[in-house]
Formats: sequence, structure tokens, C-alpha cells
Amino acid sequence: MRDQLASNDNKSALAIYLQHKAEIEQTRYPILISQFAALAAQAHLSLGEIQQAELLAEQALSAAQSSPNNPALVEAYNTLYQIAKMQQNYQQALNYFELMRQTEGELNANKASQQAAYHMVKSEIELKNQRISLLDRDNELLFLQQSIYQQEAKNSRLWLILATLIGFTALVLAYRGLTGRRRFKLMAEYDQLTGISNRYHFNNQARLAIKSCRARQVPVAVILFDLDHFKTINDQFGHATGDWALQQIVQACKQFMRSNDIFGRIGGEEFVIMMPGCELDKATLLAEICRDAIVGIDCNSSEHQFSLSASFGVSGSNSSGYDVKQLLADADKAMYQAKAKGRNQVVEFQQTVS
Ligand code: GH3
Ligand code: MG
Ligand code: MG
Repeated sequence: MRDQLASNDNKSALAIYLQHKAEIEQTRYPILISQFAALAAQAHLSLGEIQQAELLAEQALSAAQSSPNNPALVEAYNTLYQIAKMQQNYQQALNYFELMRQTEGELNANKASQQAAYHMVKSEIELKNQRISLLDRDNELLFLQQSIYQQEAKNSRLWLILATLIGFTALVLAYRGLTGRRRFKLMAEYDQLTGISNRYHFNNQARLAIKSCRARQVPVAVILFDLDHFKTINDQFGHATGDWALQQIVQACKQFMRSNDIFGRIGGEEFVIMMPGCELDKATLLAEICRDAIVGIDCNSSEHQFSLSASFGVSGSNSSGYDVKQLLADADKAMYQAKAKGRNQVVEFQQTVS
């Protein structure tokens, strides 16, 4: 309708109004109804149909009562102002003109406040968006920090694992080194077959023991024994049986020894016992006990029939002094006396023996 009014085609504008009037009134939408009536009033005015124009303008005004910010009010007042002016009713015309200006002012003020509100909301939204983007950046920063902390934690865990591994490896190596050294020491000092001291270790222990006995002025005795006809056992029943016999003999003698006695294997089938703080007669007694124990070994468990015996020589510090070599040499001499006398017996070294 506005297009028709703008091109001064008032009749077409009114035709549209009449065509849609009932339909628009049914909507009960005051802004639409008042707009429509105000435009129709303008069309009538332009056609010089004053009465209809006035009637529709009044209708537009009453329809717009419930919607104050309605541009139709301005149009309706304008129409009424034009009519009053044409009718030379200037007081009326002035009234309508003022109402028109007042309504226009209110509309503009309303529009301005709406625009201000719009700008305020817009700037608030922009502010919020800026805050959101700042928060996003904060989040990114926090995420980066978290990633760094996680990486650091991961690195520390890796370092811890590495340190533990290194520590563990060092411990294993140290343990292996210790056990290796211990095993090597054991191998170097003890006889593998019987587990007692070897010649080298026996000599070291004996030297220390003699030194101590000399210092304390206590006696020391030595028992030396050699198995009788041991070669025959090896020859008849094999070397393994000979080994078994050597182990049995050591076990048999060991049980009678004191904790500070030193037991050594100084030759293939030759053994020695050093007894610190022991007189010759007591050593001779132990030699007797060992001899008896060797004879008593039950050789049936070797699955062969044979018997064992040994010849013993005993020396003591009273006649041989505090010297390992001398004590051993004198005990050896006595042991050969025992062999010569028929084996399986004990002979004490006497100064007269030579
Ligand atoms: P005797 O009564 O005169 O001492 O006679 P014997 O046969 O014991 O003397 P001999 O010295 O001739 O023999 C020692 C034997 O000891 C020789 C060797 O085969 C044996 N023998 C030495 N060491 C070992 C060993 O570790 N294991 C075994 N099975 N035999 C050994
Ligand atoms: Mg022998
Ligand atoms: Mg021998």
C-alpha cells in the first residue's frame, strides 16, 4: 500500500485496503490494524474524500491506543491535521500538529533508546566475547602448563626408573663382585674335595695360632696323619672311591675337634691338625680317637669291600718349639715311625726320635 501511495495511486491503495480489511481486522493485531487504517485515511485524503479520511484516521488512532510507540499514530495525526487545516479549523489543526510532533518525538526517543540499548547490549556481548577469548587463552596457557608439568612428571619418573636401574645394576655388580671374590677366596683357601683348609691356608692360620700361643706362653700340638695303602684303594676301586674315602675320613675326624683347632689337607692323602693350647698327651689322645674313627668308617656304602686306616705322628711345642715347619717336620718323622711300625697307629715325636 505504501508503494501505491508513494506513486499517488490512491485508488489502488484503497482497493488493497478493502480487499484485506476483514482479514487484517481478524488478526486483532493493533499495530497492523492501525497502520492499515492510517494508510487508507491518507489515500482518502489524497482523493479529497475528507469524511472517510477522518473516519479512518480516528479508527487508526483508537486502534493504536494500546500500542504507544506506533508510527501509525504520527500518520493518523498528520491526516487529521491536514483535514483540520483544510477546514480552516486552525486550533484543531494546531492540536493535531502538536500531537503529531509529540508522538514523532517519542518515537524517535524510543528509537534512540532502543539503539542505545542495542549498542549497550552489543558492547556487552563484545566485552563478553573478549572475556571468553581471554579465558580461552588462559585455558590454553593452563593446558600448556599442565602439559609441561605432565612432561616434567614423566621425565622425573623416567629419571627415577633410570636411577633405580643404575642402582640395581650397581648392586647386582657389587653383589656379584663380592660373591665372586668370596668364591675366589674360598677356592684359594679351602680344599674343594673335603672343605677343610688347603696347605697354603693351613700354614697361614698355623703361623698366626703359634704366634698367639708363644705370646701367651701356652703349648701347641700338631697331629699329622697319612692314609695307609691308599694307592691300593684307588687302584682297586677307582679314583672316585678314593675321593669318597677322603671325604669320609675328614668327616669322621672333624667331629672330635675343638672350634679353635686347625684342620688342613696338606697333601693328597695327608692331613694335619694343629691344636692351640694343647699339650702333647692330649693331642696323642685325639690322634688315637681319630685313628679309631677312621678304622670304624663303614665302607659298604661305597659299594666296595675294603677298610681304611691311617698312621699318625704327634709333635708338641714342648719338644719342637713354636715353629710351624719344625712342628710339622717332627710330626712327619713320628708318622713315618708309625708306618714303619706297621701302620694304623699313633706315635709321639720324642727328642730321641731322629
Ligand atoms: P702308604 O701307606 O705308604 O702311605 O701307602 P700309600 O699307597 O698311601 O702311599 P702313596 O704315597 O704311594 O700313595 C698315595 C696315593 O694317594 C697316590 C694317589 O693316587 C692317592 N691320592 C692322592 N691324592 C688323591 C686324591 O685327591 N684322590 C684320590 N682318589 N687319590 C689321591
Ligand atoms: Mg699314604
Ligand atoms: Mg702320602
